[in-house]
Amino acid sequence: MPLRDPRTGFARLSGLVAPINERVLWYIAAVVLTIGGFTLHLVVTPLRTAQADLIFMVPAILVTGALGGLGPGLLATALCIVLDLLSPTTPTAYFGSHLATAGAFGVIGIGIALFGERLRFARMNAAARTQDLLSREAHLQSLLATVPEAVVIIDENGVIQSFSSSAERLFGYSAAEVIGQNVRILMPSPEREAHDGYIRRYLQTGQRHIIGIGRVAVGERKDGATFPIDLSIAEIISGGQRYFTGYVRDLTEHQETQQRLEQMQSELVHISRLTAMGEMASALAHELNQPLSAIANYLTGSRRLLTDASEENLRLVRTAIDTAVEQSLRAGQIIRRLRDFVAHREPEKRIESLRKLIEEASALALVGAKELGIRVRLRFEPAIDRVIVDKVQIQQVMLNLMRNAIEAMETSDRRELSVTTAIGPEGAALIEVADTGCGISSEMADQLFLPFATTKVHGMGIGLSISRTIIEGHEGRIWAEPNPGGGTAFRFTLQALVDEELGDVG
Ligand code: ADP
Repeated sequence: MPLRDPRTGFARLSGLVAPINERVLWYIAAVVLTIGGFTLHLVVTPLRTAQADLIFMVPAILVTGALGGLGPGLLATALCIVLDLLSPTTPTAYFGSHLATAGAFGVIGIGIALFGERLRFARMNAAARTQDLLSREAHLQSLLATVPEAVVIIDENGVIQSFSSSAERLFGYSAAEVIGQNVRILMPSPEREAHDGYIRRYLQTGQRHIIGIGRVAVGERKDGATFPIDLSIAEIISGGQRYFTGYVRDLTEHQETQQRLEQMQSELVHISRLTAMGEMASALAHELNQPLSAIANYLTGSRRLLTDASEENLRLVRTAIDTAVEQSLRAGQIIRRLRDFVAHREPEKRIESLRKLIEEASALALVGAKELGIRVRLRFEPAIDRVIVDKVQIQQVMLNLMRNAIEAMETSDRRELSVTTAIGPEGAALIEVADTGCGISSEMADQLFLPFATTKVHGMGIGLSISRTIIEGHEGRIWAEPNPGGGTAFRFTLQALVDEELGDVG
């Protein structure tokens, strides 16, 4: 921005004040032109009059005064008068009237120099303003080039006036290609045909549908590809003209980020399931070992019985084989549940039976619980059973809560685990997992649901944080309270279906 001279108010620009050199040149020009005019007059004028002498020097005053300003103008005037008075051509007889003419000439010369000075200032001022405007323009362009949003300015006929470099990148057009074109080329049908109508309607009614509000719309690139955009529009009046500035943000990237985040979250939920299963590996191996050993025992016994194929022995063998089949089915069931639980799949919400879901989760979570002497009680409220959930994810929450409860009771004398369903606030299903364990330690109370907060030597501290992510992803809430009988009660809510909502689904 140019500095302003505090006294004159004129802009001081390096190119205009520098002119010390330039002004010196004008002084020299004043001398040269005046002498030149005078010499010319000596050479060519046959009429030797006082007026004729001076007339030849007028251009010197005009040029130097008008272009060089006051100083050079005055110098030229003074020099003219001196040369004129000293001129050998000046008739001595007329010297008196000549002096008067020279005086009048001097006054006119001073007037021209003053006028020239004003002109000079006016020129400087105009140059300063132009410079000012240019630097503002450059400033605006640099702003437009750096705002992350694409900026498109149109007039009230929808004709593009300005197209920022991010707009060039976003739409694939160069500014030169689109400036002067209707903005509808940046949108697909049916907006393309309707856009002129939108502007007309706004100009007629003044009703704002998008200006100052913003909305999600669709843009079209030069290659015809369409993409979602977030569009905000501002109205500006400049030089008595109305313009609309559109700020366009590409939502594709935003949506992709969102998708990536969801994908990462689902990965994390999956990893946490694998971790939970990893922690239970030895208990699970034990659980599987039981039916397998039973099968082996029954088959060994049967082979021994078959050495004496009496009627009685054959009956015993049949019973042993039936029991072995039962045991192999049991082992198969455990493996199937495990596989379902650890499989990586897209989260999917469906209508599920809360009771069935909890019973299945318990079968996995309670592996090894009997050996620890834990008494388990499951109580279901029949009036609330249908929930809209991703079954495996909610089973994961149940497993986390139940395994934590079992671990919390390791050192307790009373070991009771109860899982209860009830009708919660606003018709939601309320699920409670309560234990008679050690209770939440004071150091954990504030950070129970934060990731990596654990009091266990081999704990990861992600179970509860993942559980909260899952429950909040189901628009529910999860919290912990001290259990009135000692220990802790974890509760969470889930959206439930009341009978009328079931329709023919149930
Ligand atoms: P981790 O089990 O790996 O420690 P969690 O996020 O599941 O991770 O649990 C975090 C912490 O919360 C546990 O270390 C424990 O201190 C506390 N906690 C969780 N459930 C219970 C419970 N039923 N009783 C007492 N403390 C619990």
